[in-house]
Amino acid sequence: CIAPFATVSGCDVQVPLVQGGTCTYANFDYAASAPALSAVTDRITELLPFYASVHRGAGYASRISTTAYEDARSSVSRFVGAADDQVVVFTRNTTDSLNLLASAVPGDVVVLDIEHHANLLPWKNSRIVEAADTVSETVWRLAVELQRAPAALLAVTGASNVTGEVLPIAELAELAHASGARILVDGAQLVPHRRVDLVELGVDYLAFSGHKLYAPFGAGVLVGRRDWLDAAEPYLAGGGAVREVRLDHTEWSCAPARHEAGTPNVLGVAALAAACDALAGFDADAVIRHEEALCALLVDGLQTIDGVEVLRLWNDSADSVGIVTFTVDGYEPGHVASYLSAEYGIGVRDGRFCAHPLLARVGRAGGAVRASLGLGSSSDDVERLLGALRLLVENGPTWVHAKTAGVWNP
Ligand code: PMP
Repeated sequence: CIAPFATVSGCDVQVPLVQGGTCTYANFDYAASAPALSAVTDRITELLPFYASVHRGAGYASRISTTAYEDARSSVSRFVGAADDQVVVFTRNTTDSLNLLASAVPGDVVVLDIEHHANLLPWKNSRIVEAADTVSETVWRLAVELQRAPAALLAVTGASNVTGEVLPIAELAELAHASGARILVDGAQLVPHRRVDLVELGVDYLAFSGHKLYAPFGAGVLVGRRDWLDAAEPYLAGGGAVREVRLDHTEWSCAPARHEAGTPNVLGVAALAAACDALAGFDADAVIRHEEALCALLVDGLQTIDGVEVLRLWNDSADSVGIVTFTVDGYEPGHVASYLSAEYGIGVRDGRFCAHPLLARVGRAGGAVRASLGLGSSSDDVERLLGALRLLVENGPTWVHAKTAGVWNP
């Protein structure tokens, strides 16, 4: 029996079942938004009484909020092993971070076709490379494109939000640098599962979201090399981003303030930093072992169920984080997801996961079901999910659910 690695909120929530009664919620949707760690809830409770504007006031609460905000910047910087010339800019989420960087890139961006839309759509001058069936061939194709014509940036995902598969970041960083480009890692799915050290990996820019890192919504991070960020137009124009304003001239601040106009989300940022501090205190290898063991249990179990197919991008990839996406023959993904929720209190995600080109590429343009794991997951949860899917495939959906949800006509 594999117990949860850490306490997260909502572990003991009772959810109503369509057939009557309740059961404990089994959360398989960590990749969408991870429930808050107890350290995060504690930090919010501690800071809430001092709710005040940061950088703006001399009052006691304002000073506490300002300190919390700037301490959070240091925590995040430490957590990702940022170099001295790398600055932490607080944003709303990964999407915001990538749009900010897109406004600062001085040239072409090379990107794979399997990216989340957030790492595909913001790039204005993008050169899209088709991923191959193996990681090694995919890396080779990126190298060829980087050598073919000068690019400013290689923008890659750290871990796919559909298959969980991980790219060899250090190798890609070397390739990018050898061609004169920089590298950005979309860390939305990597950072919650793996220790990321920017200096060790040679990564220039990293984006991630608090709400996938066991903290609440509304705070994200772009960390990266200062020169592009200092040279770029301010991402948002307004108070807090300027040194001096005259009616005929504005003198903008340097990053990070340059891109953080408006009253900052101090609670969100402090919560995100509390998550970073808590994760930094965990044994990173033990976290990986926990998630790998659960993932293996899930994938092995799914492979024994008739008509269930687990999606993978690459034939030669061994490394992945706790994300498993699958289809069930004869059932719409949305129906599987609503059956699991209504009858078993299991929360998965269905759809195309903001990665339409990827789904089309693996022959699942109609979508799939995603089960994603995290620190609060246990083998009991996995067994419950596997049991429910076995019953669905063997017996079909129960009459109660079919009638209530109106999705089947048995
Ligand atoms: N990139 C990846 C790989 C993601 O999984 C997500 C979220 N699904 C995003 C970017 C966007 O994150 P957010 O919605 O927090 O901006």
